[in-house]
Amino acid sequence: MNTTLPHYNQLNFPDNVLSNFWKKVNIPKDYVKDCWLWTAALNIDGYGVFSINDGTPKRQHYRSHRFVYQSYFGKITNGLLVCHTCDIRNCVNPHHLFLGTIQQNNLDCDNKNRRSHLSGDDLPNTIISDSQVEDILEDILNNKYNSVQDICSIYDVGLITIWDILYGKTRKDISKFYDLSVLKIKLSARINNDELILIKNDFNAGFSIPQLMKKYNRSRYQINYSIYKRTVK
Ligand SMILES: [Zn+2]
Repeated sequence: MNTTLPHYNQLNFPDNVLSNFWKKVNIPKDYVKDCWLWTAALNIDGYGVFSINDGTPKRQHYRSHRFVYQSYFGKITNGLLVCHTCDIRNCVNPHHLFLGTIQQNNLDCDNKNRRSHLSGDDLPNTIISDSQVEDILEDILNNKYNSVQDICSIYDVGLITIWDILYGKTRKDISKFYDLSVLKIKLSARINNDELILIKNDFNAGFSIPQLMKKYNRSRYQINYSIYKRTVK
């Protein structure tokens, strides 16, 4: 089976990256019904992990099932999870993957009685799993968030939860791989007056919020903030 057909490469990964990825996957005869198991490294939560070394110092890290989802169906909307119908975390069969919100996933887990497993980690009361923390830090690094509030609204957690991570008070085992001071700076990137005026003008001219988010590469929170905040004189 040719798994590197062009329409299965929505993010345009180079051929060598794809072949390197797919040789780590066991594709069964019944490739719709049965799981495609990831045979290489797993993270602490049991999801397959894959990194692309493009020669630059910063490697790109992916959870294998998210890599497959994006190859098949395109970019994942910010903050959405790729969930498994089969419940096998190292399965990357695209037929078994679907998009869900954190809330839906938690509900699904409650129904399947494995909520405590998702909360995982060493802290029994943690609301976000290790892989979600990893996601958050990686996404901050990739400029997907402009504020801590953005993260809170997506993951349904309080500000303190995120700030504790960013100040290295909790989840240090994961955050030690990141330069937290850089992440904090990225989150406090403020919109200046000039940009504020441009956004407001565009909004008044009929641009929708999603259009503005795309045009200015800002989060929904920041666009809303720009529209409703008075310009500082
Ligand atoms: Zn599966």
